[in-house]
Amino acid sequence: MKLEDVLRGLRERGLRLTRQRREIVRILYERLARGGHPTLDEIYREAKERMPRISLGTVYSTLKVLEKLGYIVAFQIGGKTHIDRSGLHVNIICEDSGEIREIADQELVNAFTKEGAKPLSIVVRARCQ
Ligand SMILES: [Zn+2]
Repeated sequence: MKLEDVLRGLRERGLRLTRQRREIVRILYERLARGGHPTLDEIYREAKERMPRISLGTVYSTLKVLEKLGYIVAFQIGGKTHIDRSGLHVNIICEDSGEIREIADQELVNAFTKEGAKPLSIVVRARCQ
């Protein structure tokens, strides 16, 4: 999903798009576009470099709205909240390096549906080889 579409969607749902919120969304989408799974803290740190007065609460609440509207999903691993693009796929997280890789295998995703589950996020803990 393009950044402009997300910003328009937020506006249409009545969210006041302050400069801080726009910047948070922009930082997040830049990272997601590069295939990243940024943590809440990483987004906060980057936002704070550009806008020193921003609060963690503003970052958190903006991400919560994006999640609620289905633009992003969040998952927790190792006590950290990672943000992920929407569009179901499998995230493989290496226990040793913390690296996150993705598999977009529709059959794997379908297997959940067959079991009557509609996953919001699929996270597999693994060891890289
Ligand atoms: Zn992912």
